[in-house]
Amino acid sequence: MCETAFACFLNVLNLGLRSGGGIADVIGAQPYSSDHVGLFVARVIFDLSFFIIMIILLLNLIFGMIIDAFGELRDQKTRDEEDQKNICFICGIERSEFERHCNFEEHTVEEHNIWSYVFYLVYLVEKQKISKTEMTDIENLVLERYLIKSYEWVPVGKSLSLEKIYEKENVSKEDNIELIQKKVEGIQQDVVNLSKQLNTSLIGDLKASIQELNGKVQVNQKQPAYIQELFRKVEDIQRSLAARPSQ
Ligand SMILES: [Zn+2]
Repeated sequence: MCETAFACFLNVLNLGLRSGGGIADVIGAQPYSSDHVGLFVARVIFDLSFFIIMIILLLNLIFGMIIDAFGELRDQKTRDEEDQKNICFICGIERSEFERHCNFEEHTVEEHNIWSYVFYLVYLVEKQKISKTEMTDIENLVLERYLIKSYEWVPVGKSLSLEKIYEKENVSKEDNIELIQKKVEGIQQDVVNLSKQLNTSLIGDLKASIQELNGKVQVNQKQPAYIQELFRKVEDIQRSLAARPSQ
């Protein structure tokens, strides 16, 4: 069965991998004998190592790689499908950007329809063959770019409908800013008027009140002198009464 080393290697590989328990299934078990303990142990080690390394590790490694490869392919397919559903093929703008302003389906069907571009290219190629002299500058330019595989003419990252909407939004934003500026100016004017009123009427009232208070304080300060004079007069009357001869 194993006449050369190479034939032996192939046989071990072929029969060993196809057997559930490894090469030991094919070459048979080594019976224990007290005379050949070393041979028995060597066979045990060989059979077990073949089973662990080839059957458990290597085969599972290969299965794992195959499953991983399929998984990667599936992920790639899912990513591609997501891209097709959610990104415009022509401009590359995402569905979410369109949904904020308009309809994505409408955009991909009416504005950036893939087939319209394909038809246009076919039309240009055919027109060049049939009536080259009737081609316009734009048609010549697009065809020329297409033939050298340059896609500058494709509106990558651009959409007329979105640009129009952005323009409108910018105009309304500018209007809003102007409105806010006017309001701020109005508020500033109000503040100036209020401060003027405060300076004139309120501060005037305050000044009058302070002056009135000052007058009262001055009157209060005069009172002791007045009282002292009263006291003096009372003392004079008392003195004159005392000076009168008693009857
Ligand atoms: Zn588009």
